[in-house]
Amino acid sequence: MRRTSLMSLVVGVGLLAIGLLFAAEGQAAQHQQRASLQREAALDSAAFSAYLDRARGLVLLLAQNPTFTGSGPIDMGKADEALGYLQSLYPNAVSEACLIDDSGRELARVVKGIPAPVVELSTNETANPFFSPTWDSAVGGVYQAPPYLSPDTHEWVVSNSTWLRRADGSRLIVHFELTLASFQPYIGVASAGSHAALVDSETGQVLLSTERARVSGEAPLQTPSWSRHLVVRGHAADVRIGGHRPVLDTVDRSAGGAADWYVLGWSTARASLLPTWAGAAAALLGLLLVAQSLVSFRRQQLTLRAAARLDHLTGLANRKAVEEALEAAIAGAASDPSDVTAVLILDLDGFKQVNDSLGHDRGDLVLREIGRRLRGNVFECDTAARLGGDEFAVVLRRLKSADDVEAVARRLREALVRPIDIDGAPHFVGVSIGAAVYPQHGTVGLDLLRGADAAMYVAKRAREGVRMYEPGTEAGAKSLNEAARLLMAIEREQISLVFQPAYSSETGAVVSVEALARWRPEGQPDVPPSTFVPLAEDTGLIRPLTALTIRQALSAAAEWWAQGSRVPVSVNLSSRILSDRGLLHEVLTALAAHDLPPAALALEVTETAVISDRVAAIAFLTEAREAGIRIELDDFGAGYASFERLRSLPLDGVKIDRSIVQEQGAGKLLTATVELAHELGLYVVAEGIEDAETARAISAAGCDRAQGYLFARPVPAAALLELLRLPAAGLASR
Ligand code: C2E
Ligand code: CA
Ligand code: CA
Repeated sequence: MRRTSLMSLVVGVGLLAIGLLFAAEGQAAQHQQRASLQREAALDSAAFSAYLDRARGLVLLLAQNPTFTGSGPIDMGKADEALGYLQSLYPNAVSEACLIDDSGRELARVVKGIPAPVVELSTNETANPFFSPTWDSAVGGVYQAPPYLSPDTHEWVVSNSTWLRRADGSRLIVHFELTLASFQPYIGVASAGSHAALVDSETGQVLLSTERARVSGEAPLQTPSWSRHLVVRGHAADVRIGGHRPVLDTVDRSAGGAADWYVLGWSTARASLLPTWAGAAAALLGLLLVAQSLVSFRRQQLTLRAAARLDHLTGLANRKAVEEALEAAIAGAASDPSDVTAVLILDLDGFKQVNDSLGHDRGDLVLREIGRRLRGNVFECDTAARLGGDEFAVVLRRLKSADDVEAVARRLREALVRPIDIDGAPHFVGVSIGAAVYPQHGTVGLDLLRGADAAMYVAKRAREGVRMYEPGTEAGAKSLNEAARLLMAIEREQISLVFQPAYSSETGAVVSVEALARWRPEGQPDVPPSTFVPLAEDTGLIRPLTALTIRQALSAAAEWWAQGSRVPVSVNLSSRILSDRGLLHEVLTALAAHDLPPAALALEVTETAVISDRVAAIAFLTEAREAGIRIELDDFGAGYASFERLRSLPLDGVKIDRSIVQEQGAGKLLTATVELAHELGLYVVAEGIEDAETARAISAAGCDRAQGYLFARPVPAAALLELLRLPAAGLASR
């Protein structure tokens, strides 16, 4: 596409240049050709003029002959001689000469050098076309009649006659005929392809032409249509001879001449290599090509520019485009404060589930459908965009008031949450929308986007659907922002688990595997659970986080159970979650979903959890334990839980806190704790064992199980599966 229009540009420019060059060259050559034709015609007509003048001179000279001018009877012998002499001077030109008296009687005549016998002489020449007009010419004037076919020689001739007065007072006419054929040498052709013609301006007859080499004999003179046309118009401008435009020159009218003659010249040779019109056509074509390729360049540019601002999946604007649209909307609203401008950020709830369970194709289908609905539910002046993933934005313009923003957002949400048909079945995706209004919530596009974003997270967390940005909440913006990121991480399952086994002190076999949560945001440093777990607790995200860890832990456990390692997975439960009524049901459903017995799960709870809402916590743990799930008290010894309280809790084991294990080694407290736990029928786990010495000490103290970097660090599920395949790995082999 690009290359072809570049090609056509190059070709176009080339054609344009060459075309113009040829057109100019053609034009110049044509000019030159006409100029030389004009010159030739002028030369020809000057030559004719001179020839006629000479004829005039001759007849005048003849009239001076004393034989004619003297008095008394004319000596006929001398007269014939005089007339004959003239002819001998111009053998093929002067074909007939005669002498006529004023009564029209022919006194003498010589035809082609031969005197006519007296009996053949005409007695009345008054009917001859040259006769009477000759008397009208001035003294010493010569009458040159238009060409006629000579009755004596049967040749086309031009007649020349003058009159003279004799000594006795009588008048005589001296006349001779000049053959038209003798004009032929004067009609010259200077260059190849050029032509000329001598035309009578009165009759349009072509007297001579380079086309017909010789006009002689009785062949009639021709009057072609172009010369008739010329006679009617009187100029050569719109005359064409065989398609060629002639030039014209007028032969100077001789004094006493009865005719006006034209010399026409034209050329049948091409003036230039290419005719001007071909050059002009090439130039025009070149111009068209250039124009067309420029248009196509421009179009390409626009398409590229449009593509750079387009989200390819949905056909909506992309982030860059929506940012530009927002800036433009702000500029518009700034100049007309009656227009309200706002931006909405929309995020789908539960999109990841659709993507994971139905595949990316179906996920794309959902996004496209959402895009379609968005576009269909905003006005022309609004801009709907996909920012990436399942996040969308809409710039709203020309609203009447800020109150309209929320109404529009709710209307949009209603349109988006309608079930989406996927393979014939309706699917529901939730939508959370945050809104920010110009200028209340920001005067710059990015501020508005950020505000709408923050509001969206609040809406999502509170499961409110639509939320307007509240500038007041900005104080907690950082943690809000963090919480928002965590929320997205949970939604998109960017939180994963690593697994750390615990080993039997006795056999060295793995007896349980602890699941530990990891948050590795893309392109950002890992966030430790000691940071995000409390954050989740504070922001109410602990429930979805717990649900996520239980789901992932069980799905990993299902694999090692299937592999034959029937050891439970231990999931850490936050203190806040224990009062959640629906939790146990969820846990049991998840176990069933993974086809695992309750014994495949252990729950680690901390002392603090049990302290904070004792009644609810005990109720939950009792039920869970009765259902067959093992319960361990985590971080034992680090808090305030008294041994007294231990007694009343529904537990299977205790996990002695890392600080106690590491600081005290096999100290008295440890030994006492182990003894007490055993007394209560609980097993004891020592965590955080990093060296062999500690390992030996806790073993000596009677700990049943051990866990720590010494044996195994927390590893991803795949690595753990490998580790579990090792026969009786762990403690014994160290
Ligand atoms: P915890 O339940 O006491 O988990 C044991 C912590 O000690 C883990 O840190 C583990 O990686 C680390 N550890 C294990 N062996 C050694 C060792 O030999 N030396 C040392 N120095 N450390 C060892 P982690 O993974 O950073 O977790 C910290 C805490 O975050 C956990 O303490 C637990 O309270 C909480 N947590 C982790 N995952 C979850 C979770 O999925 N849900 C909840 N509610 N809390 C979690
Ligand atoms: Ca733990
Ligand atoms: Ca612990």
